[in-house]
Amino acid sequence: MVRVTILASGSKGNCAVVTTSRTRIVLDAGLSCREIVKRMRLCGEEPENLDALLITHEHQDHVQGLSVLARRWNVPVYATEATHAAWKRWVTPRNTMSFKAWLEARRQQADMSSSSEAKPELQASDICDTAAVPSLTASEEQEAAQPLNPALLEAERELFPPDVRSDDPAYLPCVEHFRAGISFDIGDITVMPFTIPHDAADPVGFVLQAEGMRIVVATDLGYMPPNVRMHLRGADLLMIESNHDVEMLRDGPYPWAVKQRVLSRVGHLSNDAVGDYLAEDYDGGARFVVLAHISESNNLPELARLSAERALNGRMGLLGNKILLASQSTPLESILL
Ligand SMILES: [Zn+2]
Ligand SMILES: [Zn+2]
Repeated sequence: MVRVTILASGSKGNCAVVTTSRTRIVLDAGLSCREIVKRMRLCGEEPENLDALLITHEHQDHVQGLSVLARRWNVPVYATEATHAAWKRWVTPRNTMSFKAWLEARRQQADMSSSSEAKPELQASDICDTAAVPSLTASEEQEAAQPLNPALLEAERELFPPDVRSDDPAYLPCVEHFRAGISFDIGDITVMPFTIPHDAADPVGFVLQAEGMRIVVATDLGYMPPNVRMHLRGADLLMIESNHDVEMLRDGPYPWAVKQRVLSRVGHLSNDAVGDYLAEDYDGGARFVVLAHISESNNLPELARLSAERALNGRMGLLGNKILLASQSTPLESILL
């Protein structure tokens, strides 16, 4: 039996646990470690024996509790190399100047020595160092790359035994890099990561196979390209993003630039996009369709449900598909496969 427990889903934090008789893995750590452990215990999942923490991408709502969970509970972290590198940049304090500050510093230097010799104009190539410093982009306001909350991190550091405390914020006890399209095993779970279109360094969805069951997780994607549709086929449990209602987003509180990003092909899936997929392309084989990453600002759970139900009801024979809604505030009752 495979047990899937979605501890949280949404732009304030994503985390799920998949457990077989031999293996227990966590998908994303977008809540604080304390909250993850609290919700795990509430759901009868023990944090003591975690075999892996799989990361989809480096946005804050997927990595907030990563370092503390990995260190405190000694969990190996699995991520693509680019996601790991982007996360490291995010947690490492920046000591590079912004281009504006750097330019000003150069000007002041130049002014101080201008009486002795003429300085050449600054060239575009001068900025290559700063240009090379990547900045995370956000898909929703809450996903913006904020530095980790130092107070939170400090409070949680008290959880660490002294020997695993480290002053390096990017320290992790064990990291495994995977590549999209290349499967690997964790215990008796076979994991196939696949590329999704989203504004992160190297975002992925996952197909997890264990005990004859196929679980597909695809959240945080701007649209559904053929490779994603292919991986969604044959799912027993399909967890798919139903992020926003397009009209609510358009009329909602987000700044226009953020709205555009959410709507873009590297943003998030709308209720309509999921409805179109379920009506036209979905193979109908999943016992459970979980609508996830539902925006609290730009969607209503009932709108997401209605849209999916309407799409499935239009297709004879798919009424057996059970639609579940993942929530931000409370774990979803464990799904048994
Ligand atoms: Zn997200
Ligand atoms: Zn994201």
